[in-house]
Amino acid sequence: MESKASRSDGMTEQCTNCGRETSHEVSVELRTESSSEENAEFSREPYRVTSCLVCGEETSQRMNNA
Ligand SMILES: [Zn+2]
Repeated sequence: MESKASRSDGMTEQCTNCGRETSHEVSVELRTESSSEENAEFSREPYRVTSCLVCGEETSQRMNNA
């Protein structure tokens, strides 16, 4: 018997590409936001990156709103 909620390495979130809730792999990345190379080191922000395990759509959301 299979359970859709049995995955421990994924989270169920809305996928805009699939148009429904699917399992996602979630990770956190530091990404450079600045367009200026001089400031690149100081403008890295943590992003929460989710990848849809169904279609592969990747969505990133900035975690730090400061
Ligand atoms: Zn998807």
